[in-house]
Amino acid sequence: MSLPIYLIGARGCGKTTIGFALSQALGYAFSDTDHHLQQMTQQTVADIVAAEGWDGFRQRETESLMAVTAPSTVIATGGGMVLAETNRQFMREHGRVIYLNADPRVLAARIEASPQENQRPTLTGRPITEEMAEVLSQRDALYLQTAHHVINAMQEPESVVNAVLETLSIARA
Ligand code: ADP
Ligand code: MG
Repeated sequence: MSLPIYLIGARGCGKTTIGFALSQALGYAFSDTDHHLQQMTQQTVADIVAAEGWDGFRQRETESLMAVTAPSTVIATGGGMVLAETNRQFMREHGRVIYLNADPRVLAARIEASPQENQRPTLTGRPITEEMAEVLSQRDALYLQTAHHVINAMQEPESVVNAVLETLSIARA
C-alpha cells in the first residue's frame, strides 16, 4: 500500500494534466477533487459558488478531499485547497504533497488558451494575469508550507512527471 500523492498549486499549474499522467506512470488511481465535487453535487463550481458562496464551496471541497483520499491514488486538488488549515494538515498527514510551481504569466497564458476546461468564477474581477499574480501572492506561502516537495511545473508535462517520480524516489509501474 502506497501513500496518496496530493498535487497542489494555482489554477493552470497542471494538477489535472500532470496528476493523470503521473497516475498512469505509477499504475495508481486518479482523483480530482474539483471533479468529485461536481459529480456529488451535479453542479459546476460556478453554480455552487453562486448558490452557496465561496465559503459553502470551501466546505464541500474539504469533504471531497477526504472522500477521494485512498492508498495508491494521485489526487489533483482545487487551487484553493490550501486555504483551510484542516485541509493542509489532512494532506500532510495522509500522503505526500507536491507543489507544482509556475509563474503567474505562465498560468495566465495556459488558462487563456483553454478557457473552456478552466472556467471558474473570477476571484478578483481583474484581468487574468493580474488575478494570477494576486492569487499567487496570497497563496504561495501556503503552497510552500503545505508541500513536502516543490516541482517546477514550467517544463513539458513528461519532464514534470519525471521530476515528481525522482523526487519521491518511486519507479514507474
Ligand atoms: P489545473 O488542474 O492545475 O488547473 P490543468 O491540468 O487543467 O491545470 O492545466 C491547465 C492547462 O495547461 C491545460 O490546458 C493543460 O493542457 C495545460 N498544461 C498543464 N501542464 C502543462 C505543462 N507542463 N506544459 C504545458 N501546458 C500544460
Ligand atoms: Mg484541475
